[in-house]
Amino acid sequence: MGTIKQSGTLLVISAPSGAGKTTLCNRLVAALPRLKLSVSMTTRQRRAGEQDGVNYLFVTPEQFRAAIKADGLLEYAQVFGNFYGTPRSFVERHLARGIDVVLNIDVQGALQVRRKFRRQAVFIFILPPSLTVLRQRLCRRGTDSAAEIKRRLAVARREMKFVRSYDYAVVNDDLDEAVAALSAIVIATRCKVDKGGEGNVYGSDRRVVEKKRQRV
Ligand code: 5GP
Repeated sequence: MGTIKQSGTLLVISAPSGAGKTTLCNRLVAALPRLKLSVSMTTRQRRAGEQDGVNYLFVTPEQFRAAIKADGLLEYAQVFGNFYGTPRSFVERHLARGIDVVLNIDVQGALQVRRKFRRQAVFIFILPPSLTVLRQRLCRRGTDSAAEIKRRLAVARREMKFVRSYDYAVVNDDLDEAVAALSAIVIATRCKVDKGGEGNVYGSDRRVVEKKRQRV
């Protein structure tokens, strides 16, 4: 009986701060099976309501530097003066088991992942309906000072220019519609036929792979 290499897909999701990415990612992971959200490591201060190990792994700059040195991060970047990075072991462990992993990371990190994992990753950019709506959302969130909001809007303008480096763009105007669009992208990715010769011949839909195995 032949063996078929089974491996999950990295779903890289970027969005300007305040575009609703966290809510969207949580909804997506709740809506679909075989999908896990990677928990990033960060040196930023914990916000009210955030939990260590759930929202982020909150670490000191020394701990972050040690993780870089040990090659423990898949990618990392400095965002708004703090370091953020994706722990490598979680991602590799789940992908190897055929579980798709969502990375909720900034444009700099996404470009690093693209260089390393082009064939194993799908890149999605979440857009706010407009910059005015984005400003309103950041103000309503109430977690950032006026100066911080200004800074985040300037970064958003810059980041939105990178949308063409991504495979898909989803406008988060209506939350349900945006979740449906994201789910459709994940499902389509799972049904994709791999034309590369390596890896999974039938995309990552495990049921199809099982059927194929029975036939061999
Ligand atoms: P926040 O401080 O608002 O939670 O996140 C700020 C920015 O950092 C967001 O754009 C978010 O996507 C990004 N970010 C969070 N985790 C990571 C990560 O592991 N790597 C990179 N490159 N960016 C991240």
